Amino acid sequence: MLDGLFRPRAVAVIGASANPLSIGHIVVRNLLDHEFKGPIFPINPKGGSICSIKAYRSISEVPDQVDLVNISIKAEYIPAIIDECGRHGVKFAIVHSAGFKEVGEEGVRREREMVEIAHRHGMRIYGPNSQGIQNSDPEVSVYANFTFVPMKPGNISIIAQGGGMGELLKLHLSKVGLGHRLYCSYGNECDLTMPEILEYYGQDEGTRVIMMQTESFKDPRAFLEVAARITPHKPILAIKAGRTPEGSVAVSSHTGSLVDQAAMAEALYRKAGVVQFTDSDEMIKAAIALACQNVPRGRRLGLITNTGGPGIQAVDEAVSRDLVLAEWSEAGRQRLEQSLYAEASCGNPVDVVATAGPEHYFAAVDTLLKERDTDMVMVFLVTAPFVDLDGIAERIAEATADAEKPVVVVVETTDRWARLIERLRGAGLPVYEFAEDGVRALADMVRYGELQRRPAAEPPALDVDRQAADAILEPWVGKDTFLPQTEAYRLLAAYGIPAPALAVVSGPDDLDEAVREVGFPCVLKVDSADVVHKSDEGGVVLGLETREQLEAALATMRDRFRSAGTRFVVQRQAPSGCELILGAKEAPGLGALVMFGLGGVMVEVLRDVSVAVAPLATPEADALMRAIAAFPVLTGVRGRPGVDLDALRDLLLRFSRLAADHPAIREMDLNPVLAYPRGEAPLAVDVRIRVR
Ligand code: ADP
Ligand code: MG
Repeated sequence: MLDGLFRPRAVAVIGASANPLSIGHIVVRNLLDHEFKGPIFPINPKGGSICSIKAYRSISEVPDQVDLVNISIKAEYIPAIIDECGRHGVKFAIVHSAGFKEVGEEGVRREREMVEIAHRHGMRIYGPNSQGIQNSDPEVSVYANFTFVPMKPGNISIIAQGGGMGELLKLHLSKVGLGHRLYCSYGNECDLTMPEILEYYGQDEGTRVIMMQTESFKDPRAFLEVAARITPHKPILAIKAGRTPEGSVAVSSHTGSLVDQAAMAEALYRKAGVVQFTDSDEMIKAAIALACQNVPRGRRLGLITNTGGPGIQAVDEAVSRDLVLAEWSEAGRQRLEQSLYAEASCGNPVDVVATAGPEHYFAAVDTLLKERDTDMVMVFLVTAPFVDLDGIAERIAEATADAEKPVVVVVETTDRWARLIERLRGAGLPVYEFAEDGVRALADMVRYGELQRRPAAEPPALDVDRQAADAILEPWVGKDTFLPQTEAYRLLAAYGIPAPALAVVSGPDDLDEAVREVGFPCVLKVDSADVVHKSDEGGVVLGLETREQLEAALATMRDRFRSAGTRFVVQRQAPSGCELILGAKEAPGLGALVMFGLGGVMVEVLRDVSVAVAPLATPEADALMRAIAAFPVLTGVRGRPGVDLDALRDLLLRFSRLAADHPAIREMDLNPVLAYPRGEAPLAVDVRIRVR
């Protein structure tokens, strides 16, 4: 339980000083200004008073039990202070100070020592190098944090790794007159972890929406488990982590270069049902809508406007976000026609026209909310100065008062009518400036609704031979190398992943047997751990139709790759099909990630791939395929047939199971897999497997 951190009964500030520019001073000021409900104890060896309250020389002199201390003294003094706090019964220490892990060896040692001492006393450390926490619950009102955005009660809680992003999220909520509930920027995570805090947010009754920002996951598995428990009843919105390409592995496989921290975050979020954002502004706007409106049950949108252009913008945005423009029932259409001006347009968007007054807006909103086939409504209002605008705001508020369906409002106006916006917000309606923002907020709510309602799914039972695979891998484990082609294909076969017939050849003497096993047409390839892109180095010859052609190709290739012991493989040539890439990569602390995309050069140019945590459940395999922009290519475009998606899903399930079952596999590329129209199994024609 983190009540001692987020609901402390008393707070001490170690390092409090009279200097108004010191962290300790600012924390005391913030606690005072935000009327913390318990006693505040500034601690300063000189005693005296700080911000007009008595300062104590040390924590031991404080008469009361203290739950929380904020510490901003020099790092080297902290372990001793932690010990003193522990003896005094302190439960949590927020360490603002830097000078730990991030400064190297010495700092790592100090961090470990500090945590050990704390644990001896049953105390927990938050940070170090962290900004602190806030809880706006009026019963507590704790601002144990050194920043500047005023705190005001709200129901959106924020959890951020970095203070800069955390502060930005708060700032924007405050700019639109909203507050927040819990806040934390957790820094180094030396002891108390992000998933523990998230769990607390999930249980906090005053928190309706959680916004998070994370740069790296210390324990991705723990995060996944906690987040997955929260998202069915409370939305978590997350800004994607930054991209950190891992140059060292980039050359060894496609998957290595395409699956980075950001891709892992994406996979984690998807699996946990977290709504992801690339844009912080959009995330904040979605949080605002979710904080005061119900989640839509479907994708059907009803639009109301009093001017044309923004209506069109709204429609375009809605369509690009896969929302559906709702259609009205006959009764609904009749009511609109009877209630609105003759020149109004009663389709979707409903254009009530600029001269529309309170009754027209009321009729339009009320009608749409009652339509069975409408899941959500956006109301646009440009403040035409020749109508009763206050009346309109009033009637919109009335019409939406008990609405089950979500409503967002967009108001185009100047400061002169700021009171309208306040009136609407006061009625619990999210208000935006641009039509696109309103639509996006609804579309993001739809995304959450779909994640929330998706059925829980376990990976299916598959007929795979795990022991055979273990036996194939066993001799290679610990060598940090690539499997020879023969072994790699045997491994795939153990998991039921089909590939064309294959034979190894070292020289011309092996050709007769290879031809018997493989047949024509065939392909000759070099088989070497050192050759990453075989075709770039002349290591692939396609379209060999006769024994003579094969022999000639082998002679040339042997010339080219002279190093002793180089092997070659003859592989049956597969019919041309749709080229796909499947990748797998170990993700420390999580297991394996799998990646899917269209093969060829485009995968690297466009990075059009999707990533998921292995092993996949059936709906996750479907989602993985659908998540790439090029998905329509797979269903068939321009008269070209699509591929057998059932067969492809089966392949993904098997491939992800292979990766998940065998931690010895560090990276695995099937590039390409050739997929075919319905009825034909896809074939892996190139495989590269790196063993740890
Ligand atoms: P690399 O990726 O190392 O250059 P590949 O084995 O993937 O080598 O071969 C290069 C290309 O040749 C593939 O992308 C595919 O288009 C084609 N190819 C390779 N093997 C076969 C095969 N057995 N049947 C059909 N096409 C193949
Ligand atoms: Mg290849």
